This record gives sequence, C-alpha cells and structure tokens, in this order.
Amino acid sequence: MVTRSIGALVVGIAISMAIDVVVAQPALRHSPRNDLSLMAREPFQVFDNLYFVGIGEVASYVIETSEGLILIDTMWDNDGYLDYHLGNIRKLGLDPADIEYVLILQGHRDHFGGARNLQGVIGAQFGTAAEDQKMMIEQFGEYAPRIDFIIEHGDTLTLGDTTVHLEVTPGHTPGTTSLRFPVYDNGTEYQAYFHGGPGVRSDDPAVIRRFIADLERIKRIPGIDVQIAGHFDSWLSGTGDLFDRAEQLARRRPGEPHPWVRPAEFQGFLDERIAITREGLSDK
Ligand SMILES: [Zn+2]
Repeated sequence: MVTRSIGALVVGIAISMAIDVVVAQPALRHSPRNDLSLMAREPFQVFDNLYFVGIGEVASYVIETSEGLILIDTMWDNDGYLDYHLGNIRKLGLDPADIEYVLILQGHRDHFGGARNLQGVIGAQFGTAAEDQKMMIEQFGEYAPRIDFIIEHGDTLTLGDTTVHLEVTPGHTPGTTSLRFPVYDNGTEYQAYFHGGPGVRSDDPAVIRRFIADLERIKRIPGIDVQIAGHFDSWLSGTGDLFDRAEQLARRRPGEPHPWVRPAEFQGFLDERIAITREGLSDK
C-alpha cells in the first residue's frame, strides 16, 4: 500500500513530463524485432476481460478486473515504446492509471525493457520471479526496474473479481513465470494458460529434463481451454499465428466458436514442445 500511494503522488507530475523523463538505459541493439515502425500493431480485445496491447513480435496483455487492471509484460525500451504502449491501452478505452499490478514473465529485454519507463508514469506494483529479477540487474545494473514483489511458484494474485495463479516454470530463463486465469467470452468462463517461455534455452540436461517434466505437469492441469501466447508464433504448428486468430475473431459471427478456445490445440502444442525439447536432449 505504501508503495502504491507514493507512486500515485508522482503520477500527476510524471505524466506531463513523460517524454522528457525517459530513463537512459544500457544501449539496445536495434533490429527488425524491436523496430516499432515494423512491429506496431493495432491493439484488440481478445476476451471480455483480456486485451492484446503488444507489438508484432512480442505480446503485452491487459487483464481487466472489477478493481483495476493487471498488465502483463512491458516489451522493449526503444524510443517511442512507452507512448506506443500507453496509447494502445487507451485506444481500447482503458486507463493506464488503473493498472494496479504489472507481471513480468521473463528477464529477457523484450519482456522487461519497458518496465522502468512505465514506472515513471504509473503507480502500479511490479512483480517477477527472483531468478529473473537477478537477470534484469545483471543486464541493467542501476537501471533495472524496481521490483515490488517476488513471484513464487503457487502464488496467487487477486484483484477485485479475478484471481491469477502464478507458476514459476524455469527453462527459457531461470525464473520464467507462467499464468493461469479465467477469461470470459460473452460471459462464458474459460480457463486460460499463458506459458511465459515455452522454448528451453539451456544446454544443461538437468534443466532440459526439468523443463520437459514441467510441460508434462501443465498437460495434466485439468480444464484448460485457452492458450495465451507471449510471441505471435508460439502455437501448435499449422494452426496459424496470433494475428490469424485475431482476423478470425474479427470476422466471427454470432454463435461461432471463439478462435482462442481450442483445448485440444493447447494439448497438441505442449506435446510438440515436449517432442522438440526431447530432441535437444538426445545428443547429450
Ligand atoms: Zn525470452
């Protein structure tokens, strides 16, 4: 509470200076992946309570609750990202000042780079797993974003009518966070799973085996209907990408199924990730 009220005091000053106070962070290697002129996308509503506000390469989402917003991931920190991110949120009729929590799923820069600049303009509490906070400090030093709470496996975050289950699913990074939460399609509830990093990035057979075992654990979680993806192409092969689904959603007629509600596809995606990850183990 103390952190939040201090944050609220500085918001009024910071918003008017948003462009001037952008913090100088360690130099970023510019590439097509983080070039906003190539990667900007229109934001859209995915479910009654879930909005895509990211770019072409990496996602950011807003979960809307009865008592404010939860923002997931903060994208890159190039010039223009802060205004782009806030602009996407506003285009959907949401107010960035209503963001109470920001969850950072990975210590890779495309997920946390924008966090510190966001901290200059919103009074939210930022959370990530301990291992990935360490990664942020290793990369950014004194420019690492402030972390207000550490996510541990099995934690829950409740805001208003919504509870998000938090899981630490290491492999892509040592503290990758994954989320399980309800989404609503015209009032019908579905359970969504958002794996924060479904591709392992380690040569250590112990890490790889643990990652496979964890994907098998996720497969056994009952009742998951919906997959939420952190990158546009992170789906079962041959089923299209995030923006194909967005087009299907925009064209959807009343009574047709929601293109994100495909439980068998999520199981297929996990099977495929397990098979691909096992291949990496076979030469060890
Ligand atoms: Zn990553």
